[in-house]
Amino acid sequence: MKVLVINCGSSSLKYQLIDSESEEVLAKGLVERIGIPGSVLTHRPEGKDKVVIETPMEDHNIAVKLVIDALVDKDHGVIADLSEIGAVGHRVVHGGEKFNKAVLINDAVKKDIEELSALAPLHNPANLIGINACEKNMPGVPQAAIFDTAFHQTMPKKAYMYGIPYEYYEKYKVRRYGFHGTSHDYVSARAAEILGKDRKDLKIVVCHLGNGASISAVKNGECVDTSMGLTPLEGLIMGTRSGDLDPAILDYIGEKENLSAKEVNTVLNKKSGILGLSGGVSSDFRDIDAAIAEGNEKAKTALDTYCYRVAKYIASYAVALGGIDVIAFTAGVGENNYVVRKQVSDYLAFLGVKTDDEKLKIRGEEIVASTPDSKITIMIVPTNEELAIARQTLALL
Ligand code: AMP
Repeated sequence: MKVLVINCGSSSLKYQLIDSESEEVLAKGLVERIGIPGSVLTHRPEGKDKVVIETPMEDHNIAVKLVIDALVDKDHGVIADLSEIGAVGHRVVHGGEKFNKAVLINDAVKKDIEELSALAPLHNPANLIGINACEKNMPGVPQAAIFDTAFHQTMPKKAYMYGIPYEYYEKYKVRRYGFHGTSHDYVSARAAEILGKDRKDLKIVVCHLGNGASISAVKNGECVDTSMGLTPLEGLIMGTRSGDLDPAILDYIGEKENLSAKEVNTVLNKKSGILGLSGGVSSDFRDIDAAIAEGNEKAKTALDTYCYRVAKYIASYAVALGGIDVIAFTAGVGENNYVVRKQVSDYLAFLGVKTDDEKLKIRGEEIVASTPDSKITIMIVPTNEELAIARQTLALL
């Protein structure tokens, strides 16, 4: 069967068509600027040249229709007929406390996703638009929702409660949820598989270091703690997000810069992190590395602050897990950036971490990068959220 994986944003739509038997990606692509001038679909069929289609797309219905047309097109298509798509798996960002696993979508599920928009106003409404557009264009094809938060629902209460009045949890569900769950689940499972061990017997720390970044502590196959919170702003320093800070900063900066709480929130989400700390160099680590090579001090501060915080989080998860067996690096930075992996690992030498630096330098491959006598196994495990979504979708059918 072929599973279409959809990741819908408010003006974008990413997709992959995956053959569930061979787990091969048959085609993938991206639609950008939906509902705004300059809409464009970039379609990448496996084994054929990419196609760029620039045409107005008023809404997501038209975008989904164009994706389907591209998939069945006689020249750049990869399937003969739409009926070959057996299911659609949607990435949905917030499942709240309601969803601790993936589910098949029906009207009740859609209503829940809509209600959870209060907790993820930028994401859940867009995810729902994608679901409705697929329903309309592929009537009768089963659709599944795979939630970013679901894997973290096993966290104990002491890990997800904030130290604020309890009534805010009761009234507004203010608590820590965690995100990137599909990746943390996939990478921890894959790490155990590579080591030839049962995930249930391991204490694993997964470092998902991408443009957004989060860490999770996985014990006996379940998440016991993670660094993101009510929203994806908490935790590590990220590409443009601040991560943890003193909440009093909001009020202080707001007063000094004459900004509303909402405006400061935007600064913390869009202008902070590596971008902000480096004095505006970039949110991309490739640019940071290049700036450091040219002697840029702020870029160096950004990198050092980033790595220090990652290492502190990992060490704190030794408490959450009662020890650490495996640390797995994943996502854009985790898979590609040797300097980050090395700095973080060196901080953890006191826990008995010893790296094999030739292996630690390898990029984007599944690899064990610690020495045989290291007390903790250091790994690079490329994530594959789309494949994980396709697998979970198939499992529901
Ligand atoms: P992600 O959100 O997982 O796509 O990660 C994006 C980030 O990964 C970028 O901002 C880069 O900092 C980093 N990255 C991606 N590819 C590379 C690469 N080839 N070398 C170094 N860093 C990379």
